Amino acid sequence: YLVMWIAFLDITRALRRLASLDALTGVLNRRALAEAIARHFRQHAAEPLVLLQIDIDRFKEINDLHGHEAGDQVLIEVARMLRHHCRPRDFVARTGGEEFLVGCAGVRPEQAYRLAESLRTRIGELRVPLASGERLACTVSVGLSNPIAHPAGWEAAWREADAALYRAKAGGRNRTEAPASVLAAAA
Ligand code: GH3
Ligand code: MG
Ligand code: MG
Repeated sequence: YLVMWIAFLDITRALRRLASLDALTGVLNRRALAEAIARHFRQHAAEPLVLLQIDIDRFKEINDLHGHEAGDQVLIEVARMLRHHCRPRDFVARTGGEEFLVGCAGVRPEQAYRLAESLRTRIGELRVPLASGERLACTVSVGLSNPIAHPAGWEAAWREADAALYRAKAGGRNRTEAPASVLAAAA
């Protein structure tokens, strides 16, 4: 019975982990976001978080021109780039169809801005291999929040990042925007 119980606990743990991951890209899913932020402040209470909302530019066009499979491949490669370029304490979540949220831990706003710009540049340099043999380029727009010091502020910070993302889209896409205080620090 003990062996069965241990196996049961293992399976339960594995299922819980799977339930927090996005099936296509392997990054956290939206449901797991609040818990990732809570965990960050439990483990590193002194490290503020900056949220980066990232949205692939004209993604509908990628689907329309190259097919849904190609779109999926782009999502997988963008997620992989985000994950590999982030540091161990950062986290990456897929918050919507072609939208990702990166939690950037323990950095000053100007450093978060530089990280955002470097993520944006690297994604712009990706050439995603398609089944057809073509290699597809894409760009992203990025919006930053102000740093938060407590988990309680995270939804307001997410709205801030989203508002900045909206300005990046309106400003022509393939760019990073942030609240005025962050831009001033990064200048
Ligand atoms: P913008 O530059 O303003 O962000 O334009 P956009 O085309 O990227 O944004 P829009 O919201 O118009 O289109 C997003 C598209 O993403 C529409 C939807 O069909 C597609 N999409 C959502 N989830 C998936 C997915 O899992 N796989 C693929 N291939 N496409 C998806
Ligand atoms: Mg979108
Ligand atoms: Mg988009």
